[in-house]
Amino acid sequence: MELRLILGDQLNAGHSWFHTQDPAVCYLMAELRQETDYCRHHRQKVLAFFAAMRAFAAALTKAGHRVCYLTLDESAPWPDLPSLLAAQLEAHQADRFAWQSPDEWRLASQLTQWASGLAIPTAEVDSEHFLTPRDGWRRYPHSRMEFFYRALRKQYRVLLDERGQPLGGRWNFDAENRAKLPASQPIPAPLTFANEVSDIDAMLTRHGVATIGSADADALPWPVTRRQSRALLEHFLAHCLPHFGRYQDALSERGWSLFHSRLSFSMNSKMLHPLEVIRAAQAHWQANQATISLAQVEGFIRQILGWREFVRALYWEKMPEYRRTNFLGAERPLPGFFWNGETSMACVRHAIRQSLEHGYAHHIQRLMVTGNFALLAGIHPDEVDTWYLGIYVDAIEWVELPNTRGMSQFADGGLMGSKPYASSGAYLERMGHYCKGCHYQVKARSGPDSCPFNSLYWHFIWRNRDKLGNNPRLALPYANWDGQTTEQQQAILTTAEHHLLHLERL
Ligand code: FAD
Ligand code: SF4
Repeated sequence: MELRLILGDQLNAGHSWFHTQDPAVCYLMAELRQETDYCRHHRQKVLAFFAAMRAFAAALTKAGHRVCYLTLDESAPWPDLPSLLAAQLEAHQADRFAWQSPDEWRLASQLTQWASGLAIPTAEVDSEHFLTPRDGWRRYPHSRMEFFYRALRKQYRVLLDERGQPLGGRWNFDAENRAKLPASQPIPAPLTFANEVSDIDAMLTRHGVATIGSADADALPWPVTRRQSRALLEHFLAHCLPHFGRYQDALSERGWSLFHSRLSFSMNSKMLHPLEVIRAAQAHWQANQATISLAQVEGFIRQILGWREFVRALYWEKMPEYRRTNFLGAERPLPGFFWNGETSMACVRHAIRQSLEHGYAHHIQRLMVTGNFALLAGIHPDEVDTWYLGIYVDAIEWVELPNTRGMSQFADGGLMGSKPYASSGAYLERMGHYCKGCHYQVKARSGPDSCPFNSLYWHFIWRNRDKLGNNPRLALPYANWDGQTTEQQQAILTTAEHHLLHLERL
């Protein structure tokens, strides 16, 4: 008997393990306290993972595979992975053990260490999901995501002409993808699923699993099967792709996902393969070029073929040291309003309340609203990571950590991005509609009613001069700062210092 472990984010029905049915193989899947408790997750995230795992186990069983599935009730005697595996090897009289490479360093090291002490043959196999190997950082040009992405476009022949050149004569249409959402632009209603998960919800309550955010256990909106994931992909192609790139950076209270795909959970749990999504987007664009421009599909594909693979390569190259990086020496605790949305800053309030309600925020909300605020306020990256790792339904450390520590908090000193994603209120006003109804004045740089993003931005620039002053991409902000009078600078810094002392009251 061979026992094969399937982790909760390894729901890849296309894996070669499942090409044949073998009565001498048993697939083990388990809901574990170790996984519900390594961080405080959004309730929808735990519900979605467990529901998707159960559906996957049922589909495997239906396809003729032998599956041992343990609910949280059944796995209670073995709350952590090593004790569970030891007990299950014994129970199944297994004389071989195999597992797919985990994506998280935490689980990979735990499993490798545990398996090294076994007296039976063991095998670690690829999860057959990513488009680059784990050591992709060394194999692909990695100085910037853009070069990594171009290499993958060539390797997988994505959006290339017959000479191997990029369609449209350019690799990147980012400059065209920065429009504000006009008030008259209709937004498609997000496709949601009404998955009934009250039994899982009751189980979480029974076991006292601590979660954050709200959930409707009678109608969980996230896709939990491959069929639902494919439906979400089709919905995205038909309704969101035509404007994806154009409004990719837009902020609006009119919708919670705008033209974004919300496919991250389906991909991160591996119900969808990234290449399947990329090929579907390219084919849909090819068939609909009258209504969808190249800039829209290129912008979407770059996120998956470029960013997603790039962050994974960075994660595996730099862990475990990466999770201790703090280049800017940020030390403040996360303000309490991150956990309840009670702040007078309209943009931050909306992003946090939406995150608590839906377990989702789109990239610009994560990067330029909550992430930007934490960066400017000098919040310790550990605290920022804990929040991002818990709150989003798609949050798994391999993708969360480089995005949070690296891209958003610049704690890696510039591996993810060549400059910090720091901005004043002017950017948020340009890309969103919040400022008009906000308690703070976006045009004011100092004084009690001035937009906190303004004074905190200049304080950030000022206080980090020794670390950022030589960055050529920040030459303009430093020239702007130096061009202000001493009185202006002093007023801004005094306002910022006041905000920093009273972050909880903002
Ligand atoms: P879309 O905008 O529709 O993009 C399509 C797909 O591209 C996404 O589903 C995702 O798979 C991929 N993608 C886009 N941007 C990135 C990126 N920067 N890195 C990796 N993949 C990307 N993404 C996660 O999947 N899990 C996380 O825990 C996570 N944490 C983040 C934390 C911060 C501070 C920031 C700034 C970004 C984070 N991201 C994370 C990246 C990105 O914001 C999400 O992938 C995206 O918002 C998911 O929504 P979507 O599926 O609608 O994306
Ligand atoms: Fe956000 Fe400042 Fe605008 Fe208020 S004024 S919504 S805090 S950017």
